[in-house]
Amino acid sequence: MSPRSYKTKHDPLSQIEAVGSCSNPIRIRTVGNNPLNSKTLLVACKDRRGSVCPACSHTYKGDAWQVVSSGISGGKGVPIEVAGHPFVFVTLTAPSFGPVHREATIGSPVCRHGGGDRCVHGVAASCDARHEPGDPMCGQPICGECFDYEGAVVWNANLGLLWANTFKRLVRAINTDAKSADQVRVSYARAVEFQKRGLVHLHVVMRSDAKSDGSVPDGVGEADMIAAIGRVSMESSATCPISKRVLRWGERMTVTPIEVAVDTSGEDEEQEDRYLAIASYIAKYATKTADAGGALAYRIRSDRQVEQLRVNGHYKRLVATAWELGKDRRYQVLGLKRSANMFGYRGHILTKSRHYSTTFGALRQRRIDYCRNGHMEQPEGSYEYAGRGYDRPSTSRFAYEVAKAATAPRERP
Ligand SMILES: [Zn+2]
Ligand SMILES: [Zn+2]
Ligand SMILES: [Zn+2]
Repeated sequence: MSPRSYKTKHDPLSQIEAVGSCSNPIRIRTVGNNPLNSKTLLVACKDRRGSVCPACSHTYKGDAWQVVSSGISGGKGVPIEVAGHPFVFVTLTAPSFGPVHREATIGSPVCRHGGGDRCVHGVAASCDARHEPGDPMCGQPICGECFDYEGAVVWNANLGLLWANTFKRLVRAINTDAKSADQVRVSYARAVEFQKRGLVHLHVVMRSDAKSDGSVPDGVGEADMIAAIGRVSMESSATCPISKRVLRWGERMTVTPIEVAVDTSGEDEEQEDRYLAIASYIAKYATKTADAGGALAYRIRSDRQVEQLRVNGHYKRLVATAWELGKDRRYQVLGLKRSANMFGYRGHILTKSRHYSTTFGALRQRRIDYCRNGHMEQPEGSYEYAGRGYDRPSTSRFAYEVAKAATAPRERP
């Protein structure tokens, strides 16, 4: 149990304050021989999902931001010199598993162009609707029977493998191109995002370091990293260990430099804004994806739960496909039943390589140390779980509303 716990006072406001407005705190009590001396304390739930606990989700988002931004501009134990290293920001997408309805853009206001063709199920291949952002049709397949649900789920489930293969190749390619005596180490932080069609996107910040001392690497610039990523992402593949399907990235890959190198004084605001924007972007996905939305926020445990899911037909079918495949003993290694609510994806939402920056654990420890330094009362001894929630159930609702209002994005003046 984390030592960041606080004394329970029966007054609702001090209880809320003690757990930083957590909506569903955990109750713990001291373990001892004398039950009369037993003390109950509340600790924050640490749930990342904004729909479950806005306060803890906000803390997590802040930590995610620190983890990503300190790797770009230094701080939190990362030397500020990292800002002078070559950086790129990469987005890797999934390939197509069947045409879906698309949101209108300036370039293509109409959903899908095409002749009068129909698929074998008699569904017209073209759609001349104009889907505005937020249109629930976006991401849904043109023909559900043509959409390769099994392919989509298997791709999501093997994303970790495809990423690992790609990253290994990339490090090799950058080192071959650099022709430097000192090896280049590539560090990264990556967040996953679910696209509307239910497939996973990767947003990655990558930095090159000299392997020997972590300084600016020799013979590698942003242009070299961009070229290597472009090449490697197209060449890389992974084979699903069960279905033997060969998995690749989609063609919609983007890679851009993050220019923080020139000025680290913080005086160039535009530049400062750009890297802060990227850190915020990744941190946003780290919480948005953790909160995949009401019905899909919890693990699926039964056939009935799949049948009763209140989500659109496409998402329901993705969940059902993962759930049914998961029943097949051969697929057990992919843990598809456990990840059915995530359409087969079973990795973390935000991950980073060891040398990229600080860790969530280190940030948490700083908060604990801050509290220990006399800022808050710290419990001593051992504790056991004693239930959930505040003394009065209504306090929970109040804490939720307070945190939601306090963490809502504000409009810029
Ligand atoms: Zn909480
Ligand atoms: Zn359409
Ligand atoms: Zn069809």
